Amino acid sequence: MDCETRQPIRILVADDDPGVIASYRMILGTAKQTTNSDIDDLKSRLFGGKNTTPPQVHEPEFDIVYTSGAEAAVDAVRKNCAIGKRFAVAFLDMRMPPGPDGAWAAAQIRALDSRTDIVISTAYSDVDPGEISLRVPPIGKMFYVQKPFHPHEVRQLAVALGKKWYAESKILRLAYFDELTQLPNRAFFMTRIEQAIDLANRHGRSLAVLFLDLDNFKRINDTLGHNIGDELLHTVAKRIAHSLRSSDAISRSLPEDYEKQHLARLGGDEFTVLLADLEQPEDALTIANRIREEISKPMQLDNHKIIVTSSIGISLFPQDGEDIVTLLKAADMAMYFVKRTGRNNVQFFERSMNETALLRMNLENELRHAIERNEMSLYYQPQVDLLTGKVTGLEALIRWKNFTLDNVPPLDFIPIAEDSGLIIPIGEWVLRTACRQAKSWQDAGVRFKRIAVNVSVLQFSQTDFPNIISRVLKEENLDPSVLELEITESILMNNADRAIDTLRKLKAVGVQLAIDDFGTGYSSLSYLKQFPIDRLKIDRSFIKAITTDPDDQAIANAVIAMAESMKLQVTAEGVETIEQLQFLMQGKCNEAQGYHISQPMIADDTEQFLRKLKRYEGA
Ligand code: C2E
Ligand code: MG
Ligand code: MG
Repeated sequence: MDCETRQPIRILVADDDPGVIASYRMILGTAKQTTNSDIDDLKSRLFGGKNTTPPQVHEPEFDIVYTSGAEAAVDAVRKNCAIGKRFAVAFLDMRMPPGPDGAWAAAQIRALDSRTDIVISTAYSDVDPGEISLRVPPIGKMFYVQKPFHPHEVRQLAVALGKKWYAESKILRLAYFDELTQLPNRAFFMTRIEQAIDLANRHGRSLAVLFLDLDNFKRINDTLGHNIGDELLHTVAKRIAHSLRSSDAISRSLPEDYEKQHLARLGGDEFTVLLADLEQPEDALTIANRIREEISKPMQLDNHKIIVTSSIGISLFPQDGEDIVTLLKAADMAMYFVKRTGRNNVQFFERSMNETALLRMNLENELRHAIERNEMSLYYQPQVDLLTGKVTGLEALIRWKNFTLDNVPPLDFIPIAEDSGLIIPIGEWVLRTACRQAKSWQDAGVRFKRIAVNVSVLQFSQTDFPNIISRVLKEENLDPSVLELEITESILMNNADRAIDTLRKLKAVGVQLAIDDFGTGYSSLSYLKQFPIDRLKIDRSFIKAITTDPDDQAIANAVIAMAESMKLQVTAEGVETIEQLQFLMQGKCNEAQGYHISQPMIADDTEQFLRKLKRYEGA
């Protein structure tokens, strides 16, 4: 028995002599049920009358299948392989008339399951082991016993080879399976696709590769901890397997462990599924959507109710690629497009994706070095008090000028920085640079009240985010009340309960808090009441037609009234005309920001702007 798993050693015996079969039974475990006279009889038949005591039945347990001919033996291996059961050792008689011989059976078994060790037993000295080994390679996996055999010899071979089989299985598991989910890993999956492509080629069939990535998994891992993250991956793996099992299109006469063989975890939160035997490409879409829906059902993990969605890309053989690497890459690219276009969806690969992906890869590569190459800068856009006309705040807005890509707008690179995690160092750079600038203006007597910095979702979800803010403020020697953090409504609503907690910690640090792009994120009033915030920034989209569109007017006025009742300040974003400004002034909006007042400016121009204004105010 395998010491660790306590599983029996699976053995196949093939011999045409019922007496020899009976002796195997005795040697490998049924001795206790055999009578003394039976044993004496067998002993004299098998062991040439030698008075050898059969071994006692103790530790190893065997699971044995007995057959009386070569063909039956091969058939047993085939049937067992189909249900995922493998033999560790096969004892094959060399001569089994009238059927084929043991060497023939050995060759067939080897082709079905290359890991089974084969022991040829022969009563004749004319059989040359060297010659059989040549017929059934590899040589190292063929053994010989000569009849009449010694019971210890057979038993020891069975035990030793069985243990070796389990040890090899363990090594294979480690090399080809993922420990967390017990699913095949990338290496295993690659060989699977290779075989499937081979088969599909031969039979002119198509197949599909699904590439699945969980949405925002990193955030769950960061916020709820790695244990919950692991549990979540485990649940997701089970859900994918379950959807494959219940999938009509592929459940036809397939082996029990189909889903395990065709599903793999590539690493992190990436899974892949191979759909062989596809009737039509649409079936892949149906199955992918079923997986996606199954995953997105709420899951309860250690007191947390979590909903996780997934993005799935599909590539098809042969149209999207004829080898494993191309197919996997195409599916990955299609998955990436799902991410870019809103996540929680399924998408087939399309040729045009190649080009766009290349652009993005290039952008990401360049972005990696942007800070060290000094390519980032901050622009500042004034926010004006509509009652006094004074500049109150300055919003810091990042700019990236790259040598080959030239100016890249923040809306093009911020999402990439988010996906790649680069937003963390970039965000800290923005924070530090803005704080340092604010401090230096304060020291130089330039007047303003606040400096506003935009916070990305990934930054906000870091558990130590409030600490980072506090540390940078201290290091830059800036009073916390001067810093305002702009957090978009969608970030807050993503996980409102947790957001409340983080916002409270940030308030404790002493900074001001604004909800950016307000009106676009479906805040519920009950949450809004609980967010310890100071300001709402009405999104530009509502300001654009504020002088003409009654709906936008109603929304802007409602936000202003609500903010007033909640004792919050309101800033209107994207004010481009005097008419818009007048409308907002009449509506008693507190502050405005937009091209009509000023475009975002480099630090020097901002300083000029503020100084000029001061002289004007003073005059
Ligand atoms: P946002 O925070 O809502 O910033 C306001 C955006 O509106 C800025 O675009 C600004 O230049 C633009 N804007 C201001 N006034 C007007 C106007 O009158 N008309 C029009 N059409 N646009 C106006 P920008 O700088 O391109 O930034 C876009 C977005 O990128 C920002 O939206 C913000 O979400 C993000 N972003 C910018 N800098 C940072 C940063 O340092 N960190 C993070 N995480 N995000 C940033
Ligand atoms: Mg902003
Ligand atoms: Mg905004």
